[in-house]
Amino acid sequence: MFATPSRRYMPVLAIGALLGAPIRAIAALLGAPVLAIAALLCAPAVAIAQPATAAAQPAPAAAPPAQTSPVRDRVVLAIGAHAGDMELTTGAVLVKAKAQGARVVLLHLTLGEGGNPRLSPADYGAQKRREAEAVAAALGAEVLFGPYRDGEIPDTDEARRYVADVIRQVKPTLVLTHWRESLHKDHIATHRLVTDAVLLATLAGVVTTHPPHRGVSVWFAENWEDAPRFSPYIYVDVSDAFDTWRKAVAQYEFVGGTISSFPYLQYYTGLAAMRGALARKAHAVAFDIDSYGKRRVIGEIP
Ligand SMILES: [Zn+2]
Repeated sequence: MFATPSRRYMPVLAIGALLGAPIRAIAALLGAPVLAIAALLCAPAVAIAQPATAAAQPAPAAAPPAQTSPVRDRVVLAIGAHAGDMELTTGAVLVKAKAQGARVVLLHLTLGEGGNPRLSPADYGAQKRREAEAVAAALGAEVLFGPYRDGEIPDTDEARRYVADVIRQVKPTLVLTHWRESLHKDHIATHRLVTDAVLLATLAGVVTTHPPHRGVSVWFAENWEDAPRFSPYIYVDVSDAFDTWRKAVAQYEFVGGTISSFPYLQYYTGLAAMRGALARKAHAVAFDIDSYGKRRVIGEIP
């Protein structure tokens, strides 16, 4: 009995992830107020995970919803503490989003320049910047660099305004970032800055260089350093993007194991295979979302 709903709902989540959270299409079916609520609560997966609700509405005579959401409007912004964090954890999803027509942007709040015992932060930072630009190009992403130093990302209102202004400038439909718990203080700070900045970016009373922007979903990446209480919720099928991702991230020297003893490529390759097995795909990348988004509303008792 358990296997039946499991099989039934997992593909729905996977499809929702593939479609890149088409909030507008769902709002068109369910009514405009859903748009604002879903945007604030980061709840697209919940809305997508309820096909029965949408199916219960009379079928519109107009074109199907997928055609009312122009692909060119989709923008994915991945914000990581250190150059390499987001490429390793979400890079395959960025490749897939790009292939589906999205604009893809990486923001590294720091270069992660402090992690090489054989090089000064200045020299390793220069290397990390070159590597980050090459990896971004291989993933099909634009890359932005924040103003902060490795280990010193400030958990301040000023930093929130900086991230909010980048969000307003890039105008993402989906933001990917760190989970809230981590062994690294920069990852925790990044989570707090980004989740607050998504809200601040919507507020007209918060004045930055660019005008307000809303309608952003937020997904939290699966990172070996951010494991406590991470619970995978959305599974994205990245089978077609996996090889491109693997070749791209291998351009970071630290991924190859000569700087850190942690086997990054082995871990994230194995993780994608394991998540893929659970999703009945060759490779998948999993994300958690805010707990308020994990609310399914059911009218009919199954
Ligand atoms: Zn990091």
